[in-house]
Amino acid sequence: MSIEASARDVSEVVGIIRQNSPDPCNVDISTLDGRVNITISCSGPGPDSDVLRSCKAVETVESSAPSHRLASGIPSGGNGELPGRIRIEVPYAGVAIGGNEFVVIAGPCSVENENCLFDIAHEVKSRGVRLLRGGAYKPRTSPYSFQGLGVEGLKILGKVREETGIGIVTEAMEPATLPLVSEVADIIQIGSRNMQNFPLLKAAGRQEKPVLLKRGMSATVDEWLGAAEYIMSEGNPNVILCERGIRTFSAHSRHTLDIGVIPAIRELSSLPVIIDPSHATGSAKRVPSMARASLAAGADGLLIEIHPDPSKAFSDGFQALNFEEFKKLMEDLGKISANVGRELTVWA
Ligand code: PEP
Ligand code: MN
Repeated sequence: MSIEASARDVSEVVGIIRQNSPDPCNVDISTLDGRVNITISCSGPGPDSDVLRSCKAVETVESSAPSHRLASGIPSGGNGELPGRIRIEVPYAGVAIGGNEFVVIAGPCSVENENCLFDIAHEVKSRGVRLLRGGAYKPRTSPYSFQGLGVEGLKILGKVREETGIGIVTEAMEPATLPLVSEVADIIQIGSRNMQNFPLLKAAGRQEKPVLLKRGMSATVDEWLGAAEYIMSEGNPNVILCERGIRTFSAHSRHTLDIGVIPAIRELSSLPVIIDPSHATGSAKRVPSMARASLAAGADGLLIEIHPDPSKAFSDGFQALNFEEFKKLMEDLGKISANVGRELTVWA
């Protein structure tokens, strides 16, 4: 409390604390050097610190609790230990993300047609990869660019899933079409541009499929974890974070891949973190080195764009690996994983 706070101010603030605490909490009042300190201990989220900060007699509000209760995870042993790790099961694909396995997700930027997607699915499977990516709804910078096949694209994804047994990762852009997406998706992607689309995050939290939450291209880690918290607080604990490059002053690549975020997330959260080197670099030539670095740096997996003929892709062809390049990358990842004690997924 401020040095001038009266006994009445203190009891008013205590009243506000009680009113604003969703769960019961202990309030302890002490005086140090003539200044009143109020210590609040709660098992739940506690009062909103902004509400307390707006009281005139309050000087500062400090919190020792993480602001993202669920996304930060429960410390495995306290005292500076890293948060416990969660494993997210993807039963149809027979993989778990967040364990010792390093999980590669590969496929085209957009679903283009049935033949092309089958072709890619067979290639992906033959490399031991169990999750196929591909957007039916595409968040494009220009409204005149290809917007995705929509429901038609979902049908193609559903057919490929059923006939090949491969798991599907595909993007939902709005709450209205989320139920349709979640019917065919084994993991629902929320794109960079939608990281703070709160109605979409809440809707994704109210369904059961795991969510791959891309980092907003200008989002801090705190904002990213806040977005994960929106999904988790609605009841879905299965959030996979995906770093896909951020905007910086650096102009040599499409975005700047923040590989340093991998150990940062490990310190702050129990959620798995995967890397998308395709959107980060925007260049197929640069994807392999960033992919290899991500594995070595401790990521839980990769999201990679591939295409049988990148020059003909409907979207993001310049950053898609062709099949030959993808094969080489998978071989390299196999070698690195053996040396860093990770298990690269292999189709059983
Ligand atoms: C995508 O995965 O094709 C995509 C649009 O990604 P981002 O949201 O990261 O731009
Ligand atoms: Mn893309």
